[in-house]
Amino acid sequence: MNDSNEGIIPSIHNRSIHNRSIPDRWFNVAPHLPEPIPPAKDPDDGGPSRVALMSRIRLKAALNQDASRETWIPIPGPIQEHYEQFGRPTPLTRARKLEAYLGTPAKIFVKREDLLPTGSFKLNSSIAQAWFASSEGAPGLVTETGAGQWGHAVAFASRLYGLKNVIFWANVSARQKKERGTLIKLLGGTVHPSPSLETSTGRMMADQGVVGSLGSAIGEAITFASTNSDYKYISGSNHLHVIQHQSIIGLETKRQLETMGERPDKLIACVGGGSNLAGFMGPFLPEWKRDALRFIAAEAATAPRLTKGEWRYDHADPIGISPLSLSYTLGRNYQLPETHIGGLRQHNGSPVVGLLRRHGIIEPRAYSEQEVFEAGRLFLQQEGILAAPESCHAVRAAIDCAVEARQMKRPETIVFCLSGNGLLDLGGYAASEEAPQSAEIEYAIATR
Ligand SMILES: *Cc1c(COP(=O)(O)O)cnc(C)c1O
Repeated sequence: MNDSNEGIIPSIHNRSIHNRSIPDRWFNVAPHLPEPIPPAKDPDDGGPSRVALMSRIRLKAALNQDASRETWIPIPGPIQEHYEQFGRPTPLTRARKLEAYLGTPAKIFVKREDLLPTGSFKLNSSIAQAWFASSEGAPGLVTETGAGQWGHAVAFASRLYGLKNVIFWANVSARQKKERGTLIKLLGGTVHPSPSLETSTGRMMADQGVVGSLGSAIGEAITFASTNSDYKYISGSNHLHVIQHQSIIGLETKRQLETMGERPDKLIACVGGGSNLAGFMGPFLPEWKRDALRFIAAEAATAPRLTKGEWRYDHADPIGISPLSLSYTLGRNYQLPETHIGGLRQHNGSPVVGLLRRHGIIEPRAYSEQEVFEAGRLFLQQEGILAAPESCHAVRAAIDCAVEARQMKRPETIVFCLSGNGLLDLGGYAASEEAPQSAEIEYAIATR
């Protein structure tokens, strides 16, 4: 009798604590930005309206969330349950061995999105979008993916709701990370390396010799949805609704820091389309003050939109299938070099991130592939955590901030978002081990 009671009571107790620690509403960053988000528009090329096309092929829930200017958006119960089932809230852990190694007075906290079952934060939005699709009666989803993390998350979430799914995948990453393609197929998804011969846009890009990227895959996924009405087109980043879904990361982090009695001085995330960054930092934006709380955006030096891009309207794909949006861009014809950092390999980004940059709220830093893999190796050796190459940008920025704190003899609290796990990216790590080492981190440490 007693035994079974003990068995039940603690678990009920744990469950209620657990439930309370999952936020029941998403945070909408839009009303807290310094100016309204610039709307998407059509080019005046006399072609068909891209904006109208998007409202035809997207989920209603996504369009409604994009239009919302309310601060709080309720998370439907079934989505909350899946968040809990698949490991939310994710832990916020302290990187004590790394701190000791760097000899820094700074505390380094890590938000562990890598622990979700698909190995990245992307699941936070794919679960939401698949649930909305099934409640709107959409039989299938089509999307693009860069490194493949979003495609994996979509295949996983589609499985939960019995949805068909088609994924256009930047051909460079599809070659590098075959195992992720296997995972997507095991989950029942269909993958096409992009540019592919499946769509007219893909054939056009193949003719023009376009090297695949997130942008080429976007163009194909939109074209596919426009000719297959069974499939709704969804995005894994960039757009306001995705950033709202990802606010779960920042809301949990805020609560976890409060519970620990910590106040952050610096928040750090890597930036591709901008969803982990804006989801992680957004909930802190109402408290943001210049010099008191700093937001650092770590981008890839091979796709340096925030550090070198121009603020102007541009298409998200190389052909011009998508509407124009205003952010920092390298130009849609920019030839992105083939790197192992597929998740950050795009020529433009989110208008939300663009605004944050334009108003000096986020501080961009660009890192080379070698610099980030070195940081990833050090992080693995000190903390036992294998970070995705994209996430290694945030690791690198956190290490640099901790070294600066040491030089300034300034105790500070650094919190970074570890956006994903690197087990399927070992090829990239292996290639960087063979490249000549820059020894920059070693230098920073030796000169302490
Ligand atoms: C997709 C991805 C990113 C970049 O996407 P954002 O929308 O900019 O956050 C970063 N890290 C990982 C592990 C990813 O899968």
